Amino acid sequence: MAQGRGPGGPFSRGFLTDEEKANQPKVTPALLKRVFSYLKPYSRHLILVLACIALASFFTLLPSILTGKIIDEGLVKLDLRALVKYIALSLAVTLGANLIRVAESYINTWIAQHITYDMRNQMYAHLQKMSQRFFTTNNQGDIITRMTSDIDGVQQVIASTFTNILSNAITLVIAMVAMFRKNWILALIGIVVVPLFTLPTRRAGKTRWKFANESQACNDKINGMLNETLSASGQLLSKLFGKEKHEYERYEEANGRMIRLNIRESMAGRWFLMILSTFASIGPMLIYLVGGLLMIRGGADLTIGDITVLVALLGKMYMPVNSLLNIQVDWMRSMALFTRIFDYFDIPVEIENAPDAVTPARAEGNVVFDHVRFGYEKDRPVLKDVCFELKSGHSIAIVGPSGSGKSTIINLIPRLYDVDDGRVTFDGIDVRKLDLQFLRAQVGVVSQETYLFNGTIRENLLYAKPDATDAEMETALRKANIWEFVQNQPEKLDAMVGNRGLKLSGGEKQRLSIARVLLKDPTIFIFDEATSALDSISEQKIQEAIDPIIQSRTSILIAHRLSTILAADEILVVKDGQIVERGQHRDLVALGGVYSELYETQFSRALLPEEDGVSELEQYIWGQQPADEPAE
Ligand code: ATP
Repeated sequence: MAQGRGPGGPFSRGFLTDEEKANQPKVTPALLKRVFSYLKPYSRHLILVLACIALASFFTLLPSILTGKIIDEGLVKLDLRALVKYIALSLAVTLGANLIRVAESYINTWIAQHITYDMRNQMYAHLQKMSQRFFTTNNQGDIITRMTSDIDGVQQVIASTFTNILSNAITLVIAMVAMFRKNWILALIGIVVVPLFTLPTRRAGKTRWKFANESQACNDKINGMLNETLSASGQLLSKLFGKEKHEYERYEEANGRMIRLNIRESMAGRWFLMILSTFASIGPMLIYLVGGLLMIRGGADLTIGDITVLVALLGKMYMPVNSLLNIQVDWMRSMALFTRIFDYFDIPVEIENAPDAVTPARAEGNVVFDHVRFGYEKDRPVLKDVCFELKSGHSIAIVGPSGSGKSTIINLIPRLYDVDDGRVTFDGIDVRKLDLQFLRAQVGVVSQETYLFNGTIRENLLYAKPDATDAEMETALRKANIWEFVQNQPEKLDAMVGNRGLKLSGGEKQRLSIARVLLKDPTIFIFDEATSALDSISEQKIQEAIDPIIQSRTSILIAHRLSTILAADEILVVKDGQIVERGQHRDLVALGGVYSELYETQFSRALLPEEDGVSELEQYIWGQQPADEPAE
């Protein structure tokens, strides 16, 4: 975010330690302009709030001014009519002030809620545009805190901080004008005490700022911890490694730190209040003393009522001054909050539609990797000069050692990441020039980590095609070889899959996600075969589901099993981010290179019992199923 030097003000000089200064938001005109841009759509409501605040502040002060009349006109002159009149008037304006405050707080809450509504929607839409890189690098807890507590904080700021500043400033101005009109000497004396407030304020503000920052960081840490350890997979990990005690102690320590910080932050404010209230009692005494002297010496035109009014008005000033000085810390916190939120908004969208993006009328599914270079981090290329062509209707199997870059290759097709050099084209057009929605609609991915929502089978399927009929779902489930399983569920399509599909086995999840992709009906089918071992029945079922797809659809398979590899038209062998061999199974085995090594160490053993050896292997190579393979 563009930030220059702060415009000065109470918190820009000597307020924070060096370390704290690093986290201090720089309140620039640009920042303020940006904050106020969120208020702009509600400017008419804000004017109404402002009018309410001004009126309510005036009405709140009026009874103090009327006290003078009650004393001088009613009590001193023993005039019952005047006494009743001014008492009634005082009560009426107090009631009026309170009614106006109710209206003000309603409009205020309404504005604050609407602004947070706008901000949340904007943030969600922005985060959705973030690339996979953002979600793999950032802590999920941080992202959620930004969406929830930070934006909640903004609502607080608008509903209380901003209006408190306004209301207190207006009250102060009215009170000061009224005091000076009564007697300028006494007004000056009363006001002299006010600057003394700034002494304890600076200290308390500094301490509170420090604790607030630390407690926010601690809160983020706790959120991250909860997210990590109270998720299904986190719990599984902690249970299997017997880390419950360790995790509990880690949590308890952070939790304890949090409450200590909260107590200290709150107490820093309390000490401050104590000192302030002591100072507050000095002002009225001085007014009684000097006012009394002026009256006794007879040098000024002062009544008992006037002195009472001045003391009452001074009493009304301490609260706003106190709040305004305290608000300096709240204001800074608010600005820090806005800065944190804006920092997120300012993360550039890495992958977005080109301004001149094209949406072809139809898609064939020809994909070309043209000298592609790519790395997740700068200067650490994962793919180096990758070239291959996938023709419409054909299938490619990508094989290679773990970590060689197979998944990375397929990530580049739906533009989860953009290439650093070279290009990926779809039907002859650079994917960066294609409409993103169009491109992603053409690509269907069954990834290694199948992600299912915590809902029913039906809901998970409808995610791919919201208007799918039951018949269409049945067809997809049948093709994915999971129809029988669904039929065996008491609730059929309405059976719950559990959190992230954890109620299903690995194989069932895979097949359900194949069905989901089949419903999506993409031009290109990408299958990232799970490396984890499935039992042979599960493997067989998945194989039966994807075989026809490989035969009939344009597809790319990251393959770990020989049967999948053999079904493809071409095999690409990837090693250290480069395609080192390509061709047909038999030729690659004969080549005696990386593929034949992989074949000997992984594929042949993964599928075939050693003692059955070559003959069954030969049957596979020629595309036949072994006779004793378990049937569904
Ligand atoms: P496997 O067969 O084990 O799934 P793979 O061949 O698919 O492996 P990739 O997932 O493409 O391998 O990873 C290639 C390299 O890129 C690895 O060194 C990996 O550590 C790295 N890598 C993968 N994803 C990321 C990421 N999001 N950020 C940074 N590095 C990554």
